[in-house]
Parts: sequence; structure tokens; C-alpha cells
Amino acid sequence: MRKRRVILLGATGSIGTSAIKVAESIPERMEIVGMSAHRNAELLAQAANRTRPSAVCLVEESQLPVLRSKLDYSPEILVGPEGLETLARSTGVDLVLVAIIGTTGLKPALAAIESGKDLAVASKEILVMAGEIVMARAVERGVKVLPVDSEHNAIFQCLEGKPKQEVKTLILTASGGPFRKLSSDQLSSVTVADALNHPTWKMGRKITIDSATLFNKGLEMIEARWLFDVPVDRVEVLVHPQSIVHSMVEFVDGSLLAQLSHSDMCFPIQYAVTWPERVPNALKPLRLAELGRLEFEAPRYDTFPALGLARRAGQAGGTLPAVLNAANEVAVEAFLEGRIPFPRIWSLVEHAMDQSENFARPSLDDILQADGQARDSVREALSRDRL
Ligand code: MG
Repeated sequence: MRKRRVILLGATGSIGTSAIKVAESIPERMEIVGMSAHRNAELLAQAANRTRPSAVCLVEESQLPVLRSKLDYSPEILVGPEGLETLARSTGVDLVLVAIIGTTGLKPALAAIESGKDLAVASKEILVMAGEIVMARAVERGVKVLPVDSEHNAIFQCLEGKPKQEVKTLILTASGGPFRKLSSDQLSSVTVADALNHPTWKMGRKITIDSATLFNKGLEMIEARWLFDVPVDRVEVLVHPQSIVHSMVEFVDGSLLAQLSHSDMCFPIQYAVTWPERVPNALKPLRLAELGRLEFEAPRYDTFPALGLARRAGQAGGTLPAVLNAANEVAVEAFLEGRIPFPRIWSLVEHAMDQSENFARPSLDDILQADGQARDSVREALSRDRL
């Protein structure tokens, strides 16, 4: 048994909160020695006061006085995006858990790998944008990339110890979101509140909208492609409204292995931290007889274009996945602000993809540039929408 010393990037979000719960429930296996937040200084101070990491980082420097006034002990305090990288490079750390929304997590994730730490990835953007670079550097440096996204954590568990040539398909399950049964016509009039009302998972706003458009699953297809080094054509999506089977692997002999548990992010976080071992916890055990039934259905590709767009980006590779990701972030923001109807998210992303020039084998700079251009392209299309 080995205790892992963990840096938690994104301590105040929904994954971060779950990670703190896990650390509290298995203190003999997990110690949080550093944590960060974007701008919520008060919540960061609360979390730090309880967990007592030796270093904290606040990205938004203007909130620093709040953090200082609320801390009841004296950890090292880092600030800004550079602070995240410094924190990720700290010595005496085994694992960096990246649970930062959006693309801010990419540079600290690479810093963690470069400084020889294992990486637990909850922010799928990191692998969608730069999966090729991240996985190659991890191999070079001999560190492990452990998936925290529930689907990928499930596949990781099913794949363990199995040679690659025995794997036929990775099957990502999707709840289908709140609009699983709606027609294209009905989708054009759904509201922000409707979209934020996810049937099975409690998550942040951005990812909840992504679950409604199915872009979340699309991003996960690309994430799986890099994490498990499987072409995106062998990554399939299966709608499973109960979110109990978190994903499956189909093997060449026709057998399927699946991982099941209640939908609580504490399960995948704990497994990423204690891997390759399993330890008991106080989480709710799964009683299938009480659930009675689990349902599965094919996704509706025509009604939810996100899956097709993600497959296209995953097949093309290069900078196109970064374009899809960035365009979607801006489009989701516009939807959340009530500026565009729900289906416009898909067409804005498609437009940005059509506009972009794809670079194969991109550098990190190429990727960040494609990201910026995609954001501009969506903002421009949005300003035309308003005319
Ligand atoms: Mg997921």
C-alpha cells in the first residue's frame, strides 16, 4: 500500500470537490499537497483550510487579497497561469490531477509530465487538442496518463492486461442527455434551463450543455483515440440512459467487458489514484436487482450532428480536433448567454471546421493558434447572426 501525494488543479469545480471527498475517505492512500482554483478565492481558501496542502495557486491575481484574508494557515501561494505550471512541477509529488475547465490545463499538464509525474486527466480538452503530443511526451518520460473521465476510466479498467491486438472496439456509453427523445423541430426551441437539467449526472454548466448536444461524447471519442491509441473508427457510441454501465470494450472473440457503478465521479477519481490497486470506500454500492433494468439504444446521428463532426475531426487529426473544441466552447457560451438557439451550436462548430486549414502533426503553437482562430471564426459568425 502506497500513499500518493497529489496536486489538484481545479479544486473548486465539481471534479475538484469530488477529489477532495476521495482524499478524505482514503487518507492512507491519497494526500492533496497542492491545489489551485481559477478565481473563486473564497472556496479555494475553504478547501485549503480543510485539506491543508502546502501550496495553493490562484489563477486570477485580482482575487489574491480575498484568498489571503480567508486562509487560516500559511501555505506557499502561487498566482497566474505560470503558478499552475510551477505547482505542477513541484517536487515530492506523485500525481497531478488536472480538473480545470477548458484549455488552461494543457500547459500545466505538459509541465507535470516533463517533471516526471503521472497525470490524471479529468479535463478532456487536453487530450482532444493535444493528445498526440501529450501521449508521446508521457511515453518519452516514462510516466502514466490515467483517465478520470468516467467512460475512459471504465475502458482503462476493461483493457487492463489485455494485448492491443485482442481489442476490437471501444464502446463509449452516453446518457443521451435531457433531449434524447426530442425531434429536430423540438430541439430548436429548447431553453438554457432545459439543457442544464441533466437526467443522471450533476456537473458544471459547460459539460452539461455538451452532454445535451452530444459534443461531450464527441470529444470523448477523440479523447479515447489518443488515450488508448485506437483509430477513431473503432470508437463507437451507445446510448444508455441510466448511466450505470460507464463504457465497454469489445474483444476480437466477441466478448464484451464493461465497468458498472453508480454515476459518482468519486469512483473513477479513486481508481486513478489507487491504480493498479483497489481499496474499499464508503460509496454507495451498486445493487442491480434494485435497478431492475438497464437500457441501450443507438445514437441518432442525424438529429445530433456532434458525433459525426467529432468523428470527422478525429479521423483528420492534426489541428481539426482543437478547432472543434474551441469553436464549441465559444458556441456553448453564446447559448448559455441566451444569444443563439440550441441547434446553432452544431452549425457554428461545423462552420469553424469548414473554415479552418488543417495542419498535420502540429506543434503546441500550431494547436494554440488553431484554437484562437476557431474562436475568432465563431465570434465573427455570431456577430453576423445579430445583424
Ligand atoms: Mg465522461
